[in-house]
Parts: sequence; structure tokens; C-alpha cells
Amino acid sequence: MADVVVIGGGTAGLTAAIFLQRGALQCTVLETEIFGGRIFPSLSIDNYPAMPGISGFDYSEKLHEHARSLGADMVNEAVESIARSGDMWQVSTQDSAYVAQAVIFAAGEKHRELGIPGEAEFFGRGVAVCAVCDGAFYRDMDVAVIGGGDKALDDALYLSRICNVVHLVHRREEFRAAGGVVAQVKKTPNIVLHLNRVAIEIGGASKVESLTIGGVGAGAGGGSGAGGGSGGNGDELEKLNVSGVFIAIGSVPLSALCAGLVQTDDQGYIIAGEDCKTPTPGLFVAGDVRRKPFRQLVTAASDGAVAAIAAAEYITSKKRGE
Ligand code: NAP
Repeated sequence: MADVVVIGGGTAGLTAAIFLQRGALQCTVLETEIFGGRIFPSLSIDNYPAMPGISGFDYSEKLHEHARSLGADMVNEAVESIARSGDMWQVSTQDSAYVAQAVIFAAGEKHRELGIPGEAEFFGRGVAVCAVCDGAFYRDMDVAVIGGGDKALDDALYLSRICNVVHLVHRREEFRAAGGVVAQVKKTPNIVLHLNRVAIEIGGASKVESLTIGGVGAGAGGGSGAGGGSGGNGDELEKLNVSGVFIAIGSVPLSALCAGLVQTDDQGYIIAGEDCKTPTPGLFVAGDVRRKPFRQLVTAASDGAVAAIAAAEYITSKKRGE
């Protein structure tokens, strides 16, 4: 039996595991996908202290190895339910049931979907969410990236080095991404900006062959950057002949497993204190799934540490019968 089950093996979950193991509490970390989390494909992390320029891959490996070397059990299984049973917790997966004194929920977020025709049908056949993972399949082809945040612009720059033309489709004139990366995108000759444009339909026969885009209403139209732009009229539809569509429009929280145990805000993020405690004894929430103003690696790591310390205090008080 573990003292604590940590759900989610990203920065928050693995930092919690490090703090728990160092505090002589045995933890099991359950992760559905890659240990290290969604930062894994990032080319370069420039805002994590003492690790300037580290790749997402190297960072994830180091983090995983750090938690593993301290004795945390790492299990690749998808959690199906979390339930309180007396003063213990039971976390069930398809194959196993894990009993623990406390649970740290650090499941993070998943990619937001556009909800347009063709998106689900062509997923894995031209529709992708990770340029670093899938970009090589589109060598010398034309592709589109949708979004205006850091991920979309990172993806566009990465693909510009592999692909023929990268169409960057963003629903506004201004980018949300950091200024440096925006400047780089604007001076990359084979990135074509389609600003004030939204994706309408992904088309093709057995795989992606086109992306139809259109205007977003008043004020739309044109808005090309220095890298060249579509310059189309506001409401006109335009069919881009592309073999790949990379969707990078942000994230939604993976909080559904905690339904009935916690409160969420209107976007589904779990409401918990800065101490990561929830109103349910023994359940702590850490990382990007928690409602918070900033979601960065450092804030996820901070949450992981805080949640682990809070869980340790909870277990100690329980043992003392407090
Ligand atoms: P994000 O910052 O939330 O950006 C999402 C983008 O998608 C926004 O431009 C948004 O448009 C657009 N969008 C959202 N819903 C849309 C829809 N339905 N249709 C069309 N466009 C839509 O997400 P992110 O880029 O994944 O980044 C998440 C966090 O990770 C950020 O804090 C970011 O700084 C960080 N990050 C950092 C790095 C790095 O440092 N290298 C790399 C990746 C991510 P609006 O702007 O109009 O809202």
C-alpha cells in the first residue's frame, strides 16, 4: 500500500513524488501517457530556473529519473475512479485498485478541440496536436497550424524547418505568444499568416487534403505579417491545400475524475486553496488542473511541493488521531 497515490506524472505530480519520497512517504504515481507531461515536445524551455534552453524531452527524462531514483513507483495506467472509503482512498484503474491514505490529483489538462468537421475523422491522418512528434511525416509538404499562443508559434517555427509552406491561422490580429517568438515567426519566409481567420472545415478523402478558413466578422480580413499573409476579405472562405493540420488552441482541465469530490469553476478547473487542500480530507490538487492565475512549469512544480507537504501533514495528524 502506498501512503499517497499521485494521479498525473507531469511536473506537479512528479515534484510531489520527489517531496513525498524525501519525506519518507511511499508514493505511487499513475500516468496515462508520458512521464514528464505535456512539456515533453517543447523544443526549448527558457523560463525554468537553472535550466535555460533545456528541451522538453531532456527535462521530462530528468524529472522522471529524479522521482524514480528516490523510490517512487511509476505506473502507466489510466485512472477510472477515485473514492473515499472510510478514512482511506481507493484509486481504481482498469487492472488494479490502489489504496492510500491520501491522493494528490495532478492530472493537468488536455488539448482543446476546435469542434469542426473533419477534426475527429482525420485525427492521426493529417490532424495532429504535436509538431515535434509528427512533423517529420510532413516533410516538404504544405501544412497549417491553428492558434496564436506560444505552442502554435513554436509549432509553426518547428514545421517551417521541415515543411514547404506553413499556414498559421489565428482568430485575432495580435498573438498571445511571447514577443520574441512572434518576431521570429514574422520574419520566417515560409510561414504565411492568416490573421482574423478561423478554421471552418478539414477536408480530404482518406487523409487531410485541405483546410477551409474564413473571417471572424467585423474588422476581419487581411492582417498579414511581415512573413506574408493571406490578405483575404473578411467573410470570404478560402481553401488551403494542406496535408497536415496542427491544432494548438490551448487546453481544457482533466478534472472529471474528481466530480462530486471538489468544486470547479465555470471552465472546469478545480477550486482549491494555495495550500492545494480541497474541502475533502485527504484529497489535494496540484498543477494546471487547479484554478490559478498562471500555469507555468515553475507554478506546477511549486504546487507539487506544496501538495506533498500538505499531504504529509495530513497523514501525520491522522496518525496522531487529530
Ligand atoms: P494559450 O496560450 O492558451 O493559447 C491558445 C491560443 O489558441 C490563443 O491564441 C487563442 O486565441 C487560440 N484559441 C483558443 N480557442 C480557440 C478556438 N476555439 N479557435 C481558434 N483559436 C482558439 O495556449 P498554449 O499556446 O497551448 O500555451 C499554454 C501555456 O503554455 C501558456 O502559458 C504558454 O506561455 C505556455 N507555453 C510555453 C512555451 C514556451 O515557453 N516555449 C511553449 C508552449 C506553451 P486568443 O489569443 O484569441 O485567445
